[in-house]
Amino acid sequence: KKLVILGGGESGIGTAILAKKEGYEIFLSDKGRIKDKYKEVLRNIEIDWEDEQHTESRIFEADVVMKSPGIPDNTPLVKAIVEKGIPVISEIEFASAFSKTPVIGITGSNGKTTVTNWIQHVLQEGGINSGMGGNVGNSYAKMLAEEEHDWYVLELSSFQLDGIKNFRPKIAILTNITPDHLDRYDYKLENYVASKFRIIENQGEDDFFIYDADDENIQKWLKGHKVKSQKLPFSLVKTFENGAYIENENIVVKINNTTFTMPTQDLALQGKHNTKNAMAAATVSQLLRIRKQTIRESMANFQGVEHRLEKVLKINNVLYINDSKATNVNATFYALESMESETVWIVGGVDKGNVYDDLLPLVNEKVKAIICLGVDNAKIINAFGNCVEMMVETNSMNEAIQVAYRLAEKGDTVLLSPACASFDLFENYEDRGRQFKNAVRNL
Ligand code: ADP
Repeated sequence: KKLVILGGGESGIGTAILAKKEGYEIFLSDKGRIKDKYKEVLRNIEIDWEDEQHTESRIFEADVVMKSPGIPDNTPLVKAIVEKGIPVISEIEFASAFSKTPVIGITGSNGKTTVTNWIQHVLQEGGINSGMGGNVGNSYAKMLAEEEHDWYVLELSSFQLDGIKNFRPKIAILTNITPDHLDRYDYKLENYVASKFRIIENQGEDDFFIYDADDENIQKWLKGHKVKSQKLPFSLVKTFENGAYIENENIVVKINNTTFTMPTQDLALQGKHNTKNAMAAATVSQLLRIRKQTIRESMANFQGVEHRLEKVLKINNVLYINDSKATNVNATFYALESMESETVWIVGGVDKGNVYDDLLPLVNEKVKAIICLGVDNAKIINAFGNCVEMMVETNSMNEAIQVAYRLAEKGDTVLLSPACASFDLFENYEDRGRQFKNAVRNL
């Protein structure tokens, strides 16, 4: 069988490794430059590839095409492939056909990486041999080719879900849905919502669906559709016969007459959003019958994930927090909500059509100064100009931190939570977060 792989990034290379093992005839094509480390892999496994071009005649010979999640469906090449009747699938779909190992799949607009890592942490502590991959950075296909596990914990973006046909996670988690990436969904929220819900489309009665029952977009979709799998909702305000909820400041997870409880204040990560993330992770852990004491301990000692409300340092009793991964307004909403002291807020970057209204009450309540860190700050100044005493524009992370250092007083928090993408001043959000941490450490 002839497989053409479009895109030579993590999922393309992972697919190549697995496909080679499974005996496919492979051609990999990337319009951009493939990284040297990946080129080396391609040479080692001896497959045919090209970069900085797409040779259509070769691509159209495929029996099946694996498209990397970064390539939109509406590019002329992808459209032409579809028109020729060649199936176009994602790495997740391709890989899952070769495995019977159960999958825990995690999707949502925010919290995917946190929940994925949290689940993996509890499973490891519980002695379960699980492999973590997907959108968190290492390829599922590559793991299947090279490692043996009893469970896979996979972070799944909507782009990865768009290319599935038969993929069926044993446990599916939907953390929340707020508008994001709408440019890839004809600017229609319902298309993006539908894409997220594809995570359950192949599930059956023996599978589980864990989701945020407080989320409006999720609730709206559920009203109009039937779910085949067993529903295990979580909520901060409702209670369930089967599901996770809050009672007397405890998390309660109930599944078929078994009950797990633990005080929310013992959770490793604080803030309402993290309580939800914890409920999702605890529900999975209980489904897998990990000992309750082990779940409690690992819910309490999880270290969190870099660039997500990451506590960096305390200097002169001012706490510096790196939330560089907050690339949209909703993530920043939860960051501000979880602030427990007066906050000097560093915000800005590439605006993705942000609407800041929801942040106004929080900014009024918690933020004493705003430091704009972006090439174009006009929208932020416009939105929050009247809410705070001080608003300063800066052009580099070092400058922003110097200003923050001057403005923050004992007991305050300095929070980097940009609500924007990073590409104006930084390579990516990781680069932005690392520069923040370096600048803080140099103070
Ligand atoms: P994702 O992988 O979906 O992008 P992350 O776990 O990387 O999610 O978190 C991205 C941002 O969203 C971080 O700023 C984090 O603090 C915030 N966040 C984490 N969990 C949630 C949640 N359940 N709801 C809203 N925001 C969240």
